Amino acid sequence: MSIPSTQYGFVYTKQNGLTLKNDLPVRKPKSGQLLLKIGAVGLCHSDLHVIYEGLDCGDNYVMGHEIAGTVAAVGEDVTGYKVGDRVACVGPNGCGECKYCRGSTDNVCKQAFGDWFGLGNDGGYQQYLLVQRPRNLVRVPGNVSFDVAAASTDAVLTPYHAIKMAKVSPTSNVLMVGAGGLGGNAIQIAKAFGAKVTVLEKKKEARDQAKKLGADEVYESLPGSITPGSFSSCFDFVSVQATFDLCQKFVEPKGIIVPVGLGAPKLSFDLSDLALREVQILGTFWGTTNDLDDVMQLVSEGKVKPVVQSANLKELPEYIDKLRNNAYEGRVVFNP
Ligand code: NAD
Ligand code: ZN
Ligand code: ZN
Repeated sequence: MSIPSTQYGFVYTKQNGLTLKNDLPVRKPKSGQLLLKIGAVGLCHSDLHVIYEGLDCGDNYVMGHEIAGTVAAVGEDVTGYKVGDRVACVGPNGCGECKYCRGSTDNVCKQAFGDWFGLGNDGGYQQYLLVQRPRNLVRVPGNVSFDVAAASTDAVLTPYHAIKMAKVSPTSNVLMVGAGGLGGNAIQIAKAFGAKVTVLEKKKEARDQAKKLGADEVYESLPGSITPGSFSSCFDFVSVQATFDLCQKFVEPKGIIVPVGLGAPKLSFDLSDLALREVQILGTFWGTTNDLDDVMQLVSEGKVKPVVQSANLKELPEYIDKLRNNAYEGRVVFNP
């Protein structure tokens, strides 16, 4: 594989937002590192929160945090991977040594805070990515395309982790608010866990898709027949005050609200209601390396079929505008 010395990519700075650069260096892997040739990289709504709403993950880095590709070069002392291996990145990029990483909870590694792939540290909106810690890669099964693998690293991984953390089971009656990139996969995962799934989604096309993806009930607004306090868990893939309030109203006593979305910098809750009905609020962040292995298996077995379309990476700015205007369904990934 011949590797160029420079490449194009999209760099984010707080001052200038996202900018196309044609002369980014392709970095050489040092001992313990490897170089990845990007096969596909997904666009997430979190990118919009960073670029337009001040979600602060650091400054001056190549964005793009849903990444899959081929190992293009390995540094000395890399034993687990060889050139040509197909892999995907575990975004939280854990250090591998702290108590969280040792305890299979590497998604909340404090050392790696702000050192996440494509959010603080360099990510996939470029042609080649230096991977400093190959422990934060998982193998992509042979029957899973890079396009699907890239989307799986967040748009499937994040809802999988959230649904597992909330202990969804066959007796669960689940509400999903927002059926976009993450929510569409959340429906399929919750169905794979055996739950009843009700979806609340403001956009007609996304509601139609939610039905096709297996949701039991799909609404633009909840009907009077659904009484407050009736869902065992409410997954909020929007997480603005109005959607959080709705989740608090419709979650049952002892139920769980999971605000997965990052739509508001702060949310408030009705404390007396929370206390009297012993409602839980569960924060969830991305997913662990072990979760991503599970996700690759679910996708490989066809139990979750992410809705993915692809475009050339140079078209990223147009698709950012489209996502801002809520103008497509499912996930878009880019091939550099
Ligand atoms: P998306 O834009 O693809 O999907 C959002 C969906 O919500 C759209 O279908 C939209 O029509 C719908 N929607 C918006 N407002 C609504 C409302 N008031 N009521 C009902 N439906 C509404 O976004 P995505 O990429 O799926 O990301 C969803 C959220 O999850 C974002 O806020 C993102 O930042 C966040 N996120 C969090 C994590 C985490 O680790 N916690 C990881 C990834 C993404
Ligand atoms: Zn994301
Ligand atoms: Zn760690």
